[in-house]
Amino acid sequence: MKVAETEIADGIRRPKTGTERIIPADLVLLSLGYSGPLDDIEINDIKIERSTAGVFERSADYSSNIEGVFIAGDAGRGASLIVWAIAEGRAAAAEIDAYLEGQTVLPKPVKPSDKGITVY
Ligand SMILES: Cc1cc2nc3c(=O)[nH]c(=O)nc-3n(C[C@H](O)[C@H](O)[C@H](O)COP(=O)(O)OP(=O)(O)OC[C@H]3O[C@@H](n4cnc5c(N)ncnc54)[C@H](O)[C@@H]3O)c2cc1C
Repeated sequence: MKVAETEIADGIRRPKTGTERIIPADLVLLSLGYSGPLDDIEINDIKIERSTAGVFERSADYSSNIEGVFIAGDAGRGASLIVWAIAEGRAAAAEIDAYLEGQTVLPKPVKPSDKGITVY
């Protein structure tokens, strides 16, 4: 197994030059979190645009570049917290309801552009 330390440059995680090494192994099990949306999300030739950070692009109403496909939670925000995923899921549900029915009374608790509070 070839491994390397990584660094983030221009929003993209890359191997750090000079840190590559080989670890002999019979079996490798990968258990990854905070790794971004999977590449195999492309279904029936649907290809959702990604930002340079690797997450799916979405508009202010959570819609993607594909008609009728909406993005909420970590797939659009990047690695975050469950409360954001829940709030975005509710807001995206309201946008989907408006898309399907032409109107909605469902709540939109957060926008895709909302940021968390930073505590110093
Ligand atoms: C190790 C770890 C610890 C964490 N600890 C905390 C914590 O203490 N507190 C906190 O608030 N947050 C924590 N988080 C973050 C939190 O888990 C996420 O922010 C939250 O789960 C995001 O929810 P989501 O619905 O957007 O995505 P997910 O929970 O990742 O759900 C996405 C789902 O889509 C499925 N999926 C992927 N590709 C496809 C496909 N092609 N077809 C169908 N289904 C697919 C996946 O299997 C998954 O079930 C932690 C995350 C990690 C990795």
